[in-house]
Amino acid sequence: MLIQKPKGTFDILPKEAGQRRHILEKIRKTLSNFNYSEIQTPTFENTSLFKRSIGEETDVVSKEMYSFNDDEFTLRPEMTAPVVRAYLENSMYNESPVQKLFYFSNMYRHERPQAGRYREFSQYGIEVIGSGDFTVDVEVIAVGLQILNDFGIRDIKTKINNIGTQQERALFIDDLKKYLTKYLKVLSIDSRKRFEKNPLRILDSKDPSDNEVLENAPVLYEYLSKETKDFFSNVLDLLKDLRIKFEVDYRLVRGFDYYTSTTFEVISDELGSQNAIFGGGRYDMLVEQLGGKPTPAIGFACGIERLMIVLDKNEYEYPEKEALKLFIVSIGEDAKKFVLKTAIALRKKNFKCETDMLNRSVKSQMKEANRLNAEYVIVIGNEELESNEAKLKRMSDGIEIDVSVDKIYELNYNID
Ligand code: AMP
Repeated sequence: MLIQKPKGTFDILPKEAGQRRHILEKIRKTLSNFNYSEIQTPTFENTSLFKRSIGEETDVVSKEMYSFNDDEFTLRPEMTAPVVRAYLENSMYNESPVQKLFYFSNMYRHERPQAGRYREFSQYGIEVIGSGDFTVDVEVIAVGLQILNDFGIRDIKTKINNIGTQQERALFIDDLKKYLTKYLKVLSIDSRKRFEKNPLRILDSKDPSDNEVLENAPVLYEYLSKETKDFFSNVLDLLKDLRIKFEVDYRLVRGFDYYTSTTFEVISDELGSQNAIFGGGRYDMLVEQLGGKPTPAIGFACGIERLMIVLDKNEYEYPEKEALKLFIVSIGEDAKKFVLKTAIALRKKNFKCETDMLNRSVKSQMKEANRLNAEYVIVIGNEELESNEAKLKRMSDGIEIDVSVDKIYELNYNID
């Protein structure tokens, strides 16, 4: 029996690999315009890093982590904590008071696989560490939206909220629990489970009966201080100034404990139930929590596979693969060796060419040249080697010119 890939993973075959490379290059360009620099961290970290930052009671830490070596290490399920760890470990605050970082990395979560949800997936994301100014919140959201716009994705919704400080939230959570106690029996099983350990996440529920209960629940916004509310309106006003459309969603809380203040999510109806393309927020306490000085920070992560699903739905046109300039057909043993040497010499000169590797007939080699969309074909056999004369054929119109065999790698391959 053939061994298959693990559930929730996928192979990236050459065509898709090319599409991904295109996506990453395009994203990289925009991030460079915004002056972000790339950071890479190890695929696995000490498990304690994720427990301490994401939070022990979150779905990711409590049931989705790939941990090994007696729980000592964990494949990263997200990148914010590793980036902050690297920021501190490498004293990056000494280089510059504000670090604007981005990454492209694979993440690992033991989730129930479905469309747009995998166990190994890739994200690009940004993290700005060192500024608590509201303009940064706006820039970060603008970066994510600009990138979607670069790909022609416009049919999206930006949801934004402010979940305040831990103190502000604590009061709210008390009241939320008091309120929900009356409805415990009608809440979904998931929400009932969350009631004790992670009640804030109940706000995120998509269950219809939870939603009915939540309609009259206390509203987090009412618990925010004047300072937090002012910060929130500064963010919203600047977004409006920039003509960025958004919806305030007072129930938008995100899955990780490190979030504070601004949270946001960009969703696409084209994605079905896993509809978030990217999401993030402030994490003003995390640097301190991981042993650094108090340092405000904000970031988001965007799923590359989800982005690709939306691109497919939008019939996004990826650039064509670089065309094959020349296919050299060979007839016989001597020609085969000569053709291989010639092809290697041409490639050294940055010239994309191919030869036959299966001792095929001339007819099949011509067919292969056609299949590969070769721009030109040359046929080399004993006759050509002896006379030092061969024909260069342009496949688009069949026009042929005479060329000398020993000059093949000096030609510029332009018949006109
Ligand atoms: P999160 O790290 O959970 O805040 O998610 C940020 C983004 O990563 C989401 O909006 C998705 O685009 C993507 N994402 C999260 N989890 C998965 C997953 N299991 N499979 C594919 N993409 C994911």
